[in-house]
Amino acid sequence: MITVDNLKKDFGSTQVLRGVNLNVSEGEIFVIIGPSGQGKSTLLRTIDTLEIPTSGDIKIRDESLYSNGDSRHHDIRKKIGMVFQNPAIFQGTVFENVAYGLRFRKISSRDMHERVSQTLREVGLEGYEKRVARSLSGGEKQRVAFARTMVTRPEIILLDEPTSNVDPITTEKIEEIIHYTRDTYNTTIIMNTHDMLQGQRMGDRIGVMMNGRIMQAGTPKEIFTLPANGDIARFVGFEN
Ligand code: ATP
Ligand code: MG
Repeated sequence: MITVDNLKKDFGSTQVLRGVNLNVSEGEIFVIIGPSGQGKSTLLRTIDTLEIPTSGDIKIRDESLYSNGDSRHHDIRKKIGMVFQNPAIFQGTVFENVAYGLRFRKISSRDMHERVSQTLREVGLEGYEKRVARSLSGGEKQRVAFARTMVTRPEIILLDEPTSNVDPITTEKIEEIIHYTRDTYNTTIIMNTHDMLQGQRMGDRIGVMMNGRIMQAGTPKEIFTLPANGDIARFVGFEN
């Protein structure tokens, strides 16, 4: 579904992505873990076409994001949704915040209302349409951000540390929403996290990002019992 091929990204003279290779299957939850500053967010932003790579390519179902003209690129872009670590919540109602996700879609007002209400139910915010979005709790705001992404039914959802700023109960709810989305819509999900246990709970596979590459990818069991080298072993908590 997603193939990342020798992807490199420099910021000035700093090489951040140094040849990332990655394959994620349709309907898979792929979790990326790794120390701070290794390029996890940059990788997701590049898949989301917010950053242009220095070299290399990303293919979504064999369509290249970076080797074709803009129009192509635009169509694929619609299949991808991203939830950021600190999502922006706009002034106005929850309905307006979620419907914002549909602003470029040609969809009738009635369908839009139905779709927003259904999505709010899915994230556990049934009946919140008219609430003032900025007055919600942090966990509710995070669910509004999820709903804004989910409402478009993207084939791919990119999650950059979706639970790093919320309490354990909200974390559990958000993990449920992620599983629900995959199980219901067969969405392909790539998720960054600092939380190893969350990686083990959520990942069909885990990729360990170090030195600007995915140094090892495998099932949680493989990563935590057979780390490929000493750096990974130390990172996942082995004594040396
Ligand atoms: P964390 O776990 O702390 O979120 P990360 O693995 O997500 O870290 P990135 O945010 O991708 O890491 O950043 C990787 C490196 O790229 C960092 O050194 C960062 O300072 C640098 N970087 C990211 N974006 C830019 C930018 N727009 N301009 C310059 N440097 C950048
Ligand atoms: Mg990051």
